[in-house]
Amino acid sequence: MILIRGAGELGRLAALRDAAPLVLVPTMGALHDGHLALVRQAARYGAVVVTIFVNPTQFGPGEDFAAYPRDLDGDLALLAGTPAAAVFAPAVDDMYGRPGEVTIRAGRRADGLCGARRPGHFDGVLTVVAKLFGMVRPDVAVFGRKDAQQCLALAQMVADLRLPVRLLDAPTVREPDGLAMSSRNRYLDAKQRQRALCLPRALAAGRACLEAGERSAAAVETAMSGALAAADSLDYAAVRLLPELEETSSIPDGRVLLAVAARVGPARLIDNLALRVDRGFVAETDLLGGGEAAGA
Ligand code: AMP
Repeated sequence: MILIRGAGELGRLAALRDAAPLVLVPTMGALHDGHLALVRQAARYGAVVVTIFVNPTQFGPGEDFAAYPRDLDGDLALLAGTPAAAVFAPAVDDMYGRPGEVTIRAGRRADGLCGARRPGHFDGVLTVVAKLFGMVRPDVAVFGRKDAQQCLALAQMVADLRLPVRLLDAPTVREPDGLAMSSRNRYLDAKQRQRALCLPRALAAGRACLEAGERSAAAVETAMSGALAAADSLDYAAVRLLPELEETSSIPDGRVLLAVAARVGPARLIDNLALRVDRGFVAETDLLGGGEAAGA
């Protein structure tokens, strides 16, 4: 596995690029099995380049940029057990530096949900991913369905800026009790960890409503927010249409996203479930319609 610590060394990717398509898996490190599953899926498409960068521009004032866990040695040890071909772990000044530099402004898919709660967050995500695309020049990039709005906002950027990269979304990896894996789960003590189960339970409650034939978005949202009473505060419990994330009062047949965000102790946690609703039938689906990888 090649380790690239600075932008000046990116030429070392040339040998990989000559041999196979390059597949990018951007992360902020503090890796867990969800990230590693992304790497394994990505390896089906070519030589995997994992990036590890805690991106300052996607954190707002008062958010956890300083506290965010950083453990490059631990991450490299975990990646050594995966098919990752290279790791790019740049410094902040490899990625940013010039005053007044060009940034990306996220499109409409970033307006609600986390975009409304974290102003500028998706601008920061899209800007850093656009830079990573320019630096690594991947053929394919893989993102987790757990961050559904991020995935959809990135897909809008790729489409609108005509970027020559194919995006795939990978399923959410969960702990055995249903909690979505997240680097931020490290912030939770044992009691908070138990209470955090209210997020997957809220999604299950929303899904159960749909399976019982409920088609009022407000009723599904009420069921989800009821389950989130165990959280310390609720950011949102929402039903949105896929892929554009429009609000709806009545849920039509088609693809919908159940999305929740809540604070438990020191952690702001999110979770999502993408569902296809077809009359009485409700089944989990992907976000980007990427087929094989997305459904695997
Ligand atoms: P992060 O390091 O949290 O920025 O995440 C890096 C990538 O891993 C993003 O594409 C996330 O959506 C994805 N990811 C994070 N948690 C999970 C999970 N539990 N299952 C699958 N993918 C995940």
